[in-house]
Amino acid sequence: MSGQLTAETVLCEWCGSAFDDPAERDDPRRDANGEPICDQCYEDEFQYRCCWCGEYEEIEHRHKLVVVAEPQGFRPRIYRGIYRIVSLPYYADGMIQGWLFAHALKKICPLPEGIDTRDYPCGHLCRECQQKVEGGK
Ligand SMILES: [Zn+2]
Ligand SMILES: [Zn+2]
Repeated sequence: MSGQLTAETVLCEWCGSAFDDPAERDDPRRDANGEPICDQCYEDEFQYRCCWCGEYEEIEHRHKLVVVAEPQGFRPRIYRGIYRIVSLPYYADGMIQGWLFAHALKKICPLPEGIDTRDYPCGHLCRECQQKVEGGK
């Protein structure tokens, strides 16, 4: 706990970068210890990016649905589409790549148009996009 912030507290506790945005500096995000961290570190740790609309969402909503955009590399093979996560764990992390467990996933629908699949073989949706998918049921 650092207690009261002073005017000199302008560095992110995690990455050491300066808070250049005045709003970020005056009212920074906090980690679990109350230390000021920059928006970028906060997003990396506590939020994720929806692979459909690109909005950031709080991490607690992440592990409900998984979007599989690139089926290669998963064993047993899982095809493109959006899956509901029905049991945990639903994936294993390897050194190079991860694996999804087919038994932990239930397919909801095929991969919709407009999902950004350039960066990852699978991704997650924000709450709004989760509702778009579930709403069609
Ligand atoms: Zn930072
Ligand atoms: Zn979204």
